[in-house]
Amino acid sequence: MDERFRLRVAPCNKYPVRRKGAFVLYWMTAFRRTHWNFGLERAVMWASELKKPLLILEALRCDYPWASDRFHRFIIDGMAENESALKGRSAAYYPYIEHGKGEGKGLLEALSDKAAVVVTDDYPAFFLPRMVSSAAQRIPVLMEKVDSNGLIPMRAGDKVFPTAYAFRRFLQKSLPHFLKFFPAGDPLDAEGFPSRAEIPDFILKRWPRTDFHAFAGDSKAFRNLPLDHGVKPVARPGGEREASRLLKIFLENGLADYPEKRREPQEQGTSGLSPFLHFGHVSSHGIFLQVAQTEEWFFDRLSSRAIGSKSNWWGMSEGAEAFLDQLVTWRELGFNMCFNKTGFEGYESLPPWAIATLEAHSKDERPYLYGLDILEKGQTHDALWNAAQKQLVHEGTIHNYLRMLWGKKILQWSPDPRSALSVMIELNNKYALDGRDPNSYSGIFWVLGRYDRPWGPERPVFGKVRYMSSENTARKVPVRDYIKKFKGDNAVA
Ligand SMILES: Cc1cc2nc3c(=O)[nH]c(=O)nc-3n(C[C@H](O)[C@H](O)[C@H](O)COP(=O)(O)OP(=O)(O)OC[C@H]3O[C@@H](n4cnc5c(N)ncnc54)[C@H](O)[C@@H]3O)c2cc1C
Repeated sequence: MDERFRLRVAPCNKYPVRRKGAFVLYWMTAFRRTHWNFGLERAVMWASELKKPLLILEALRCDYPWASDRFHRFIIDGMAENESALKGRSAAYYPYIEHGKGEGKGLLEALSDKAAVVVTDDYPAFFLPRMVSSAAQRIPVLMEKVDSNGLIPMRAGDKVFPTAYAFRRFLQKSLPHFLKFFPAGDPLDAEGFPSRAEIPDFILKRWPRTDFHAFAGDSKAFRNLPLDHGVKPVARPGGEREASRLLKIFLENGLADYPEKRREPQEQGTSGLSPFLHFGHVSSHGIFLQVAQTEEWFFDRLSSRAIGSKSNWWGMSEGAEAFLDQLVTWRELGFNMCFNKTGFEGYESLPPWAIATLEAHSKDERPYLYGLDILEKGQTHDALWNAAQKQLVHEGTIHNYLRMLWGKKILQWSPDPRSALSVMIELNNKYALDGRDPNSYSGIFWVLGRYDRPWGPERPVFGKVRYMSSENTARKVPVRDYIKKFKGDNAVA
């Protein structure tokens, strides 16, 4: 197999390719984009090899956990853009949005009945791994899943890395090889296959192709979807175009000051790309290439010293190195965990030292005790925390630095660490556009000690787990305007 795909492609079932199939089917589930996508590229490769047309199915069910107007709107924006991007191209695009729970059942099987081979995305978190593996058993034709998550294939690291430092060392040894094997910017450029797959009428009749005009804005069709309507869409649209716009602004105005400004809640010092990365509207390969271009970077600038250092490895500016440390080291560390550790979202997956110290302090008296209801409404005694929670509820994000504080306070104010974990998962995944992601679990579990080390002095509730307080945070970073901005009484209805 082509070296680019060797560690990225895995069969999901044992069925053969059906050479008489009518088309190659790409079932787009996680990498919802037409560029820098190994999955789409693999499907194009099959279509060219088998001389079959290519059909891209992008479906949206309405019964996924935490399904809400916010996430649906963002995904639908991206789907509408994919439809325009694929107009006039040789691959056929078939968007399908369920109107009611379970309505989409049977669509994949019906299409697969006509397919020569099915290619899908390999994403290691949320309900996607279960969905893909159960679908593969029902499809009597070869189905492959393709990993287009990050610069390093998930299968390249066959163990869990306990710290960012250990993972960075591994990356610095392994990444130079994988930097030679990028996906194609526009996979459909290699159009060596017949155009326009025909979708059988009985399929289109039962599962009509989505008309995006019907779902625009606050339309009736959108309002009638069985979703959590309390979690409202945010102002920012989803899709590849908005991701490119944000990246351009960040590279022009934010990269140089990223190391300092990323910590300041009053500044937009970070890229804001995490929701787009989460929904697959942008790829880390595409982002990396643009950073490299901005930096006029060449491969031979990479340091040969794999010592786990955060800086002076890429041979780029300080801002670019700091940004890539988040985008590559920290982000892909989370994918490494989800891919290699069963139960990564369970309390028991914490390092033993963290469990021991949290348990030793689980009966300590809490300075304040809050349940999910008060926390969700941002009605605690702590103005900074309430502001962070309100930003999460209204904007679907929390400033990066305050997100750490947000989690630490939930630990301090919950009856025990397990309850804190479930509250963090619930609030993060319900409201954050970038939630339900490997990074969600990295961040939430970091609050409880994952990827960290024991800290002294040992404190009530936290034990040896790193402590943060609103007072210290306010001393370190300016927060007055941030509190003012999110103080308004536009809290959860
Ligand atoms: C309690 C808690 C919960 C979190 N939940 C999520 C979540 O649900 N989804 C999510 O993507 N991130 C989460 N993070 C990590 C981090 O807060 C976000 O990735 C970051 O704020 C996203 O903003 P940005 O895209 O502007 O980041 P930038 O600073 O512009 O960074 C670029 C990219 O690097 C990655 N990145 C940045 N910081 C981190 C980090 N600390 N850990 C892992 N990857 C990082 C993200 O993919 C990000 O988009 C969480 C952190 C904490 C402490």
